[in-house]
Amino acid sequence: MYHHLTKIEHLGIAVKSLEQSNTLYTKILGVPPYKEEEVVSEGVRTSFFRAGLNKIELLQATNPDSPIAKFIEKRGEGIHHVAYAVEDIKAEMARLEGEGLTLLNTQPKVGADNKWVCFLHPKGTGGTLIELCQDRG
Ligand code: ZN
Repeated sequence: MYHHLTKIEHLGIAVKSLEQSNTLYTKILGVPPYKEEEVVSEGVRTSFFRAGLNKIELLQATNPDSPIAKFIEKRGEGIHHVAYAVEDIKAEMARLEGEGLTLLNTQPKVGADNKWVCFLHPKGTGGTLIELCQDRG
């Protein structure tokens, strides 16, 4: 059977200070982040942790206009998005648009951790920001 969304790829957590949250998550998960990366186009610095087979992404704003800065202003620190892995992001974007969901970008964008990404507007998803991501290979 074909799975449109193959698994939860990671959870994205908005934080005020990547440095402090890296220390906290290193305590919680028992391992340090395996990667830190800035995504200039999104105005974020990210770090990635493994929890067994699962991944956690911490996101800190790099400027006041960053979506992460706005999120924290409104809702405080915490879970920011759920990212699902897909094998064909363009096909899934077309399918979801056909289902009446609103995409935040019309073309896949380069995201952190070597992925093509697209976000779905939380207004259409019951309040949760959803990210689709496909390995860039
Ligand atoms: Zn993400």
